[in-house]
Amino acid sequence: MRQSQLFTKTLKEVPSDEEAKNAILLIRAGYIHKEMAGVYQLLPLGLRVVEKIKQIVREEMNAIGTQEMIATNLQRKELWERTGRWSDQVVDVWFKSTLKTGAEVGFAWSHEEPLADMMKNHISSYKDLPVYIYQFQNKLRNELRAKSGMMRGREFIMKDAYSFCRSEEDHTAYYEACKEAYLRSFERMGVGEDTYVTFADGGAFTQYSHEFQTVCDAGEDLCYINREKKIAINEEVFSAEACKELGVIPEEMEKVKTAEVGNIFNFGRQKAEDVGLFYDEENGDKTAVWMGSYGIGITRMMGVLVEKFADEKGIVWPESVSPYKVHLVGLQTDDAQIRDWVDGIYTAFQRRGVEVLYDDRYLRPGQKFADADLLGVPYRIVASKKTKEEGRFEVVHRASGDVQYLSEEELYTTFAGT
Ligand code: ATP
Ligand code: MG
Repeated sequence: MRQSQLFTKTLKEVPSDEEAKNAILLIRAGYIHKEMAGVYQLLPLGLRVVEKIKQIVREEMNAIGTQEMIATNLQRKELWERTGRWSDQVVDVWFKSTLKTGAEVGFAWSHEEPLADMMKNHISSYKDLPVYIYQFQNKLRNELRAKSGMMRGREFIMKDAYSFCRSEEDHTAYYEACKEAYLRSFERMGVGEDTYVTFADGGAFTQYSHEFQTVCDAGEDLCYINREKKIAINEEVFSAEACKELGVIPEEMEKVKTAEVGNIFNFGRQKAEDVGLFYDEENGDKTAVWMGSYGIGITRMMGVLVEKFADEKGIVWPESVSPYKVHLVGLQTDDAQIRDWVDGIYTAFQRRGVEVLYDDRYLRPGQKFADADLLGVPYRIVASKKTKEEGRFEVVHRASGDVQYLSEEELYTTFAGT
């Protein structure tokens, strides 16, 4: 991508109506546009990051046999009434509207009820089980406070998955596989070390649910963690008893701020009973399906990654989610000879399949470097008159500040095919 073609501009000033670091940096760098509190447009650069995060999660969900689909945002009232969740007293984040016919509809804050209901068309016998589905979808939630930027949206992208199993044994196998898939996903996004499977309030069915909490100062949750044993307990359920059950003592738990990046639930057979999702067992018995649900906050994760890795100069993306792999910064490109030469390097990168952002703008070097720091692409490569003369390129690693000097050939071998 040529930066001269990118319609988004970087901003020096901090937007006055924004207080979350992640949103401030993402707006300044042109990744997102704030439409209103908790509602952000994804601009071309932001979309690339979101697609990278989604692709990691997609690969891990596919690997455990989960099938991708997309459900609708408009939902039927009666489905939620049946399970007692239409009421604003029970679900306090509903957005609702009314059709011209007078019928009330809800905007998707979650999908358990509609997708369980849909499965009645596809599950009738034990032979139809198990089924695992997932989607990436915009959730709408009328959150009371939306002051954490991308970390708490009123409209945000979630990956939600639902499992439909014949037995508790099958359910547990998928539940554990999903836990592992989540941990692999977070590892690939660069937060493996700081992300904990966390014991949290389980609601009606199980004693605990499992949250995935990433240590993050801007997070809204509080957890007690043990870094060595890799155990975490949400403060909601933290007690001497809970510690004992997990084989730790309260004194060895450290209290930290965290962001919930994922959450998995076991519904047992209850949800299917409420919704009316039954199948015929081998002996002919009508049996309720064993269900689970599994969420990851895709856009929240984008915010968390900015919060965790940014420095005083701007965003620092983990390589796996960065919109581009290298940022080629051309200097003195107003000189036609230099410009043609740097254009050639850009084309050579593209030919080799390297994702490259090319700063071909006619601006002062200082401004280009400041923008590169703000944008946070992992490797900045400078191509100037001096580079051309000396035949060696300065490559700066954004995260560490380490500088390498590479020949043109080495540039391609280093960045192609990785
Ligand atoms: P929270 O306690 O933070 O409100 P939740 O328990 O309501 O989260 P779930 O309904 O389990 O969250 O949703 C699954 C995942 O979606 C969460 O783990 C989180 O990562 C993400 N998520 C939830 N609410 C939001 C939001 N308002 N904005 C962005 N991501 C969200
Ligand atoms: Mg919530």
